[in-house]
Amino acid sequence: MPKDSIIKPADRTRDIKYAVRDVVVLANEIAATGREMLYLNIGDPNKFDFATPPHMVEAMQRAIADNYNGYAPSSGIPEAVDAIEREARRKGIDNINDIFVTTGASEAIEICITALADEGDNILTPSPGYPLYQAVLAKLGVVENPYYLNEEMGWQPDLNDIASKIDDRTRAIVIINPNNPTGSVCTVETMKGLIKLAKEHNLVIFCDEIYDKLVLDDDKKHISLASLDHSVPVITFNGLSKSYLGPGLRIGWGIVSGDSEVLKDYDGAINQILRARLCANHPIQYAIKPALEGDQSHLKEVRAKLRSRRDITYEMLNAVEGITCEKPEGAFYAFPRIHVDNSDEHFVKELLKATGVVVVHGSGFGQVPGTQHFRVVFLPPEDILRKAYQNIANFFGDYVRKFAHAAAK
Ligand code: PLP
Repeated sequence: MPKDSIIKPADRTRDIKYAVRDVVVLANEIAATGREMLYLNIGDPNKFDFATPPHMVEAMQRAIADNYNGYAPSSGIPEAVDAIEREARRKGIDNINDIFVTTGASEAIEICITALADEGDNILTPSPGYPLYQAVLAKLGVVENPYYLNEEMGWQPDLNDIASKIDDRTRAIVIINPNNPTGSVCTVETMKGLIKLAKEHNLVIFCDEIYDKLVLDDDKKHISLASLDHSVPVITFNGLSKSYLGPGLRIGWGIVSGDSEVLKDYDGAINQILRARLCANHPIQYAIKPALEGDQSHLKEVRAKLRSRRDITYEMLNAVEGITCEKPEGAFYAFPRIHVDNSDEHFVKELLKATGVVVVHGSGFGQVPGTQHFRVVFLPPEDILRKAYQNIANFFGDYVRKFAHAAAK
């Protein structure tokens, strides 16, 4: 084939990476050899012993049967938007300007960034953090401005680091609370510090709360950042993927709150984009009201399972010489540190080849240079987790001897 007939992809795709799925390519090769695989890499509850609550399933089935299969309003069907508003008010968010339903929280995030930032502007994103933000920014030519989470302080956002990285092209701060990949939950004090910085520098706060109902310990409560201040511009993202066990339903939303005069033009731009992409999946939106206002008993069960899986994760990984792990307070992720001096991507690939355990390298989420981590998803049942952690423990010593000098703890 002549070389100049090869279709050249756009330059903007060059920096789009999604480590979570990239590791699957190697995993598939290893699985094809017939090896037993232990998947601790994908944050999809429905792949394990979790299922969408039946009252949500019935509502969706009914909506399809009743022919709610045409286009929906661009911001979402009124009964869903109203339920999201009541839910936001229950969480103390009261200065609500707008609510819109999207194709997963992912689309809300992408639309809100697209409507805010021009090429060359920058957005502060948590490091470690969820790679979607990096991918959207790369696509738009908006500069990713990563700020660090402080591992020694339970992975709280480092406010000094954030303050030092704000410049005149900074437009927003992203916080993920509870965080993916660390499972950390933001303290009220940290959130108040973030609000202060946002107000001083005229920034929007993007608050990703997709794991808000998966705070695992009963003595801890999730606080929405937007409930702490009436005027600061915040967009809170949430959806059905995690707490309501329906990631493939692809339903999420954004809640715009804060001073309406300040937000007027920006919210107008968001709505221009919402209209241009028509609407989110129409019949599936009928699951939103039953999800938020119907039977919540699945949450008790999910949190109990995750709590004991989290405890196994925390205990078994910390028992390995050369691995340390902060205790996750929410979501279903842990981000253990490996005290070695070569790359975590190398570690993850060697672990996969030697044991069939699939985890994602820390560098795929961002981390303080010179540190190495990997992300574990503790959704699988306890026997799988125990087996995987035992494999990691057996492998780690060999790995250090063969490839890496153990660094000082
Ligand atoms: N935000 C965070 C922090 C996530 O971890 C994920 C999925 O893993 C998403 C957003 C994507 O959410 P959705 O499935 O609603 O698009």
